[in-house]
Amino acid sequence: MSQAPTRTGAPPQFRIILRESGVAREMGGDLTEAVTAVDFLMRKALDLGASDVHLQPERGRLLVRYRIDGIMHDVGQYSAEIVPNILARLKLSAGMHIDERREPQDGRVDMEYGTRKLSARMSVMPMLNGEKIVMRILDPMGARVELEKLGMPPDVLQKWRTIVLGSYGLILVTGPTGSGKTSTLYASINQLDAVRKNIVSVEDPVEYEFPDHITQVQVSEKLTFPRVMRSFLRQDPDVMLVGEMRDPESLQIGIQASLTGHLVMTSLHTNNAIETIGRMMDMGGEPYIIASTMQGIMAQRLVRTICTNCKVQYLPPADELIEIGLDPARMEGRPFYKGNGCDICRQTGYKGRVGIFEILVSTPDLRELIARRASVGQIQEYCKAKEGMRSMLDDGYDKIFRGITTCREVFNAVNSSLSSGG
Ligand SMILES: [Zn+2]
Repeated sequence: MSQAPTRTGAPPQFRIILRESGVAREMGGDLTEAVTAVDFLMRKALDLGASDVHLQPERGRLLVRYRIDGIMHDVGQYSAEIVPNILARLKLSAGMHIDERREPQDGRVDMEYGTRKLSARMSVMPMLNGEKIVMRILDPMGARVELEKLGMPPDVLQKWRTIVLGSYGLILVTGPTGSGKTSTLYASINQLDAVRKNIVSVEDPVEYEFPDHITQVQVSEKLTFPRVMRSFLRQDPDVMLVGEMRDPESLQIGIQASLTGHLVMTSLHTNNAIETIGRMMDMGGEPYIIASTMQGIMAQRLVRTICTNCKVQYLPPADELIEIGLDPARMEGRPFYKGNGCDICRQTGYKGRVGIFEILVSTPDLRELIARRASVGQIQEYCKAKEGMRSMLDDGYDKIFRGITTCREVFNAVNSSLSSGG
């Protein structure tokens, strides 16, 4: 993740934009101290490229934790005296009721940091030792992500781009939560000409705001996925992005839309590309219809990348190789890398993340296999033998050998599969 642009000399200015100006309430104690504390912890989160900020009340203290590159880190704590004012400051910033301490609340905090305008989705939850606050940082720049920068191997990137630029059909990105599906969908939408096409998007939540021309709708209790999708279809769409297909009804509407000449892009919670076909059938999709409309499936995970500042060559222990399916005897003489840990990577040895991918592109033979309900095993066999399909693990090996990531990261990522039914 990118650091905030620093102007020469002074650090960039940070401020929280209060929603209701003039609501300077008496909160008791030294409020200035709380304002400074909140500014400091948000600024630090942004500097470190954290995706989430957790403020967790524990006995006698407020624990501050950041999620960086998918992993939680303890970064500090505040003593009990200042906690009520920190909570008040944040709740006020998010337009919440300060006095409400028994019910969960949701809100949004807007911030400015140097030239960046950001916001954070904030959730407050009463818990054992007080109220816990979790903020997901939303950077509008996140919507400008480029397909080329996600880490797809060149042949995968080329195949994916071809199907994304097709004018109709169903395209899916799959993987568990936190596998980078949203970035891939956004980057794919960014490939399209939003001026000449009517692009609509329904998401839960809307993580990033697209630049002009793209209609984004946030799902709510009233505006459910199926309801928004049906309305969209009456609004002359070319491309419909559906954040996630969670229910059979959404899938039906999505399939119908893709059959009637629209391009539908969506994500599903499945472990791999081939399994996705079976999942759609479990959700009520007719095999021959899935076969005729599905253009391609991308399955992915995120792995942390080795910190380039402290990267060293090393010899992984045999069991580390065996667990990801590499034969130690055949790896002799091949260089492996890891990060030793330094100040830049907070002693983790990793900085940033990249995707590992596998793509399944529809072909006449594959359509025939799907239409006659071939098993996952049969489809797998066909894809490997006839289409030369490379798995996510294969892409992981490649990124290990190229010194981008480690065996451990690939092992964790590939094994972060979903529990059945999740
Ligand atoms: Zn480092």
